[in-house]
Amino acid sequence: MRTMKTPKSIDILFTNKCNLSCAYCSDYSDEKIQDLPISEWILFLEELKQCSVLNVDIGGGEPFIRDDLRELIDGVVKNRMRFTMVSNGTLITDDLAKYIASTGRCDSVQISIDGSNPQSHDVFRGDGSLSESNNWTWLS
Ligand code: SF4
Repeated sequence: MRTMKTPKSIDILFTNKCNLSCAYCSDYSDEKIQDLPISEWILFLEELKQCSVLNVDIGGGEPFIRDDLRELIDGVVKNRMRFTMVSNGTLITDDLAKYIASTGRCDSVQISIDGSNPQSHDVFRGDGSLSESNNWTWLS
């Protein structure tokens, strides 16, 4: 019987940093912990291809806080993997949303929303985190 020796899908936390500080979360904004530089991640993504990994689930921290997120996703795409993302949604711009769609390899972007209105959401995620001042136009 043939068995897989490597996983088909893996979770990747490209960063432990986040622009929010949700009441229940211990992942946010510890500046003392350095994320891996992009060169290390690119090597790792190449190794995943060699291991026949097909999908990466990108989370964090908040993945959109990385300035080099496009290059990281380019590394996923170049190595012929598909990807999904989890985000708090506050840092996604129209340009980034278009770029992600243009890769043709993103199966979903999950946005965490903690309530049915801004007040209940903001209790956990901080004042203004679901207010109209945030750029949510890419959701529509
Ligand atoms: S948005 Fe996510 S990573 Fe950031 S503080 Fe909240 S739960 Fe943690």
